[in-house]
Amino acid sequence: MKVLVATEKPFAKAAVDGIKAEIEGAGNELVLLEKYTEKQQLLDAVADADAMIVRSDKVTPEVLDAAKQLKIVVRAGAGYDNVDCAYAKEKNVVVENTPGQNSNAVAELVFGLLVYGVRNFYNGKSGSELKGKKLGILAFGNVGRNVARIAKGFEMEVYAYDAFCPKEAIEAAGVKAVDSQDALFENCDIVSLHIPATPETKQSINAALVGKLHKNGILINTARKEVINEPELLALMAERTDLKFITDIMPDANEEFQKFEGRYFSTPKKMGAQTAEANTNAGIAAAKQINAFFADGCTKFQVNK
Ligand code: NAD
Repeated sequence: MKVLVATEKPFAKAAVDGIKAEIEGAGNELVLLEKYTEKQQLLDAVADADAMIVRSDKVTPEVLDAAKQLKIVVRAGAGYDNVDCAYAKEKNVVVENTPGQNSNAVAELVFGLLVYGVRNFYNGKSGSELKGKKLGILAFGNVGRNVARIAKGFEMEVYAYDAFCPKEAIEAAGVKAVDSQDALFENCDIVSLHIPATPETKQSINAALVGKLHKNGILINTARKEVINEPELLALMAERTDLKFITDIMPDANEEFQKFEGRYFSTPKKMGAQTAEANTNAGIAAAKQINAFFADGCTKFQVNK
């Protein structure tokens, strides 16, 4: 089977070596399309591929139509909103992600950003500590769980809400489960977002919700920019001059947020999963999932069922 790795932003060399060893070790053929600049290059490369591994690359209906033999696409990473899952389903193409492979990387970044935030972005003035603060984790998935684990090391009081994870599972991880998003924001000094971008979550982080944060509250986003209602957050930050917004996904309104000097920070580009470890883990997991799919039809990580 021909497995195409199509990456506008390539994997690190160690990851490519690992993917190659996995794919070829299982008797499949690896084709690399890295740093492509034109859509046509992707359309040509995918034409005879049986499987494809992508990162943030857009898998649109046009790409799926060009991929006459494609049976499976694996997004090496957690979020898969770059793949048109519904159209892939129509075309009988399995879409998978590689959950959990970059979650420690994202969770560590949350704390790097939080320490930076509570110390006033290292402006020389006295800041505050994370110890004893109430942290709300919105969505207790792979990243959320890692955030909870690290937060306990900081001796924070940890709360979580997840629409689909049972309260018992949250409590079993030593975290206080609350009944709603509202309750999470109401109870906490800091809320960290770990929800995926779905029709339900897009624009859901609005002024009514963020306005419930305690005085000197912090909203931190390492999920997706689409979940934030940017106009409402801008208006709220103008009114609530105690609030901080820290994000790993630059908002569309970055320039307007920048006027809140000392209360706003965005990484220049998404850094959450940018570690050698996460990069390698996700790529190799994608290769293993493709091998398992061709060997015995395994679709354990399918996201377009
Ligand atoms: P995950 O699939 O393991 O967890 C997502 C959790 O969200 C699940 O527990 C699910 O039950 C919950 N959820 C879904 N809809 C919800 C809703 N409406 N309300 C409350 N909870 C809801 O994903 P993950 O690995 O933890 O990643 C979370 C998100 O973080 C990803 O979807 C992705 O967008 C983002 N992410 C960003 C980076 C980065 O580089 N900054 C890297 C990895 C992931």
